[in-house]
Amino acid sequence: MAKILDGKALSAVVKDEVRSEVVELEAKYGRKPCLCVIIVGENPASQVYVRNKVKAAAYTGMESRLIELPSSVSEETLLGKIAELNSDPSVDAILVQLPLPKHIDEEKVIYAVAPEKDVDGFHPSNVSLLWLGKECIVPCTPAGVMRLIDSTGVDICGKTAVVVGRSNIVGKPVAKLLLDRNATVVIAHSRTADLGAVTRQADILVAAVGKPGLIKGEMVRPGAIVIDVGINRTEDGKLCGDVDFASCSEKASWITPVPGGVGPMTIAMLMKNTIRCFKSRVPGAR
Ligand code: NDP
Repeated sequence: MAKILDGKALSAVVKDEVRSEVVELEAKYGRKPCLCVIIVGENPASQVYVRNKVKAAAYTGMESRLIELPSSVSEETLLGKIAELNSDPSVDAILVQLPLPKHIDEEKVIYAVAPEKDVDGFHPSNVSLLWLGKECIVPCTPAGVMRLIDSTGVDICGKTAVVVGRSNIVGKPVAKLLLDRNATVVIAHSRTADLGAVTRQADILVAAVGKPGLIKGEMVRPGAIVIDVGINRTEDGKLCGDVDFASCSEKASWITPVPGGVGPMTIAMLMKNTIRCFKSRVPGAR
């Protein structure tokens, strides 16, 4: 029976690390790191995510600002707001909650955030630095996945890691981070011929797909670490992951639950990234 990788408990540890760092940074530099979150429209899931992010920021003692814009806001106004925050010296980190309403070009918005304030690590400058193996802002969910794997104490080096999903925000960066830690990495996706045959190779299996219960117990190698990034809603409104928890926990050595696994870690790593943005902007703080 697998041990539970408790993202809620680990995220509390990370947030406490940030809380201590905020105190130190304020004492040293005379101001706290500041995260600015922009939300456009009333998407209920986005509202919950943003609320949790602002709550986490408050817990760590950093400053946070929430900018709420109506779904009718023009792309030009949103870009203007981002430009304003880019040049505001009191703002260290900017997050634009996705998805955006259809009439706004998400790519344009991602490109508009100053790379040093790009707390999500989505700007092409940060993406290219990640793929070049240079210091950069690592996207929050992939960073959280790595911290969860590290908390098992298992050495990633030399392990076979299979990442199911190849999105720019989760699958690809997770794969790159695992590669950087000397795992042998396979990326599976919707055209993978025999998914089970691939996932059964994995010492470390990360599912980031968006399909409830896609990964079944018979697809898991005995003793594997299973990380479930998926957040799906069942018909009765409950949250579930991409991993069939009951059957997979029979096979895995460690497994993340949904909720309470990767989700809280994403928010905790956002706090870490805000500190990182602060340090990159304050001379001598790195
Ligand atoms: P995307 O929809 O952008 O990507 C999904 C990926 O899964 C694609 O690469 C797709 O392949 C692949 N895929 C789809 N169907 C299958 C299949 N049957 N077998 C194998 N691969 C398949 O999703 P995201 O990466 O943005 O998100 C993935 C999940 O993670 C979602 O549930 C999302 O809600 C959740 N999420 C959770 C976060 C957290 O904080 N916990 C943060 C971000 C996302 P192809 O490329 O071929 O289409």
